[in-house]
Amino acid sequence: MRHLITGGAGFIGSHLAEALLARGDQVTVLDNLSTGSIDNIEHLRGAPRFSYTIGTVANEPLLAELIDRADKIHHLAAAVGVQLIIKSPVRTIETNIGGTELVLRHAAKKSKSVFFASTSEVYGKSTDFPFREDGELVLGAPPIGRWSYACSKALDEFLCLAYFHEHGLPATIFRLFNTVGPRQVGHYGMVLPTFVRQALEDAPITVFGTGRQSRCFSAVGDVVRAWIELSDRPASVGQTYNIGSNLEISIGELAALVKEATGSASPIELIPYERAYESGFEDMPRRVPSLSRLEEALGWIPRTSIREIIDSVVASFTERSCAIQAA
Ligand code: UDP
Repeated sequence: MRHLITGGAGFIGSHLAEALLARGDQVTVLDNLSTGSIDNIEHLRGAPRFSYTIGTVANEPLLAELIDRADKIHHLAAAVGVQLIIKSPVRTIETNIGGTELVLRHAAKKSKSVFFASTSEVYGKSTDFPFREDGELVLGAPPIGRWSYACSKALDEFLCLAYFHEHGLPATIFRLFNTVGPRQVGHYGMVLPTFVRQALEDAPITVFGTGRQSRCFSAVGDVVRAWIELSDRPASVGQTYNIGSNLEISIGELAALVKEATGSASPIELIPYERAYESGFEDMPRRVPSLSRLEEALGWIPRTSIREIIDSVVASFTERSCAIQAA
């Protein structure tokens, strides 16, 4: 089986590439290294069935050629991370909508399966817990920058389903909830790598808001396993699946756990949202997926505990800094 992974040098894409290679498949990565990094795929570079191209999905001839050579397209290339979205809204909207449109158009011409990385952000401010795939999306007003991300991804989902219904494109949508693990970086605002870096540097651990907001974090290994198993099932075509865990933790508790796991002397500091992001910023107080559709399809759901996840992230930070010191 030949796979094209757009955004394959990103955090989740690189784990997906690794898992597909490990089972003997052929993987090509297309990534413009905007938020991804060559370091994420460095260890795959010599692998016999692996290749990568540094380039953008907006390069249509290149995209068409790579889609032509693949059996399955995993589309993860996107502008991600709340900080980046607020800082660069034009890039977010253009990349997320324009890029997906091109991928779908070229995949449809050749009838190639597409697996699209959507996000739990599309549920927005819904309070209908747990979030079911067929539930309402409750998005905020356009002047609040963060909503451009949810809106762009929701529109991408409409496009996937439109291509499926109108052109018979075998498309499947995965709504990924907070996914964490080794190789994720905090530059774009993701909370766990930020806390781990702060704890390891004995710097203040910056909890935004009250710290009572909660999330369900899932291990990237579990997410990738679910992604691959779903993408292997013909019954997934035309469907939308939440992928995540339902083990909920508040951000304040997460900070305390990271401090404990690292034995750090860092103080835990509460930072008001308007200082952390922008004035008027809206954070989600809770985000919990319904996993019944996932469980029904696969017979299992992600279960790795947050403590195990934190330990793996700490280990990967420590390995990385040892490697940098040794170089
Ligand atoms: N967060 C925080 N400190 C940070 C970064 C994030 O308290 O340094 C909070 C953020 O406000 C949110 C939660 O952690 O409530 C998860 O943030 P992340 O950006 O990782 O994911 P998302 O907001 O998409 O759930």
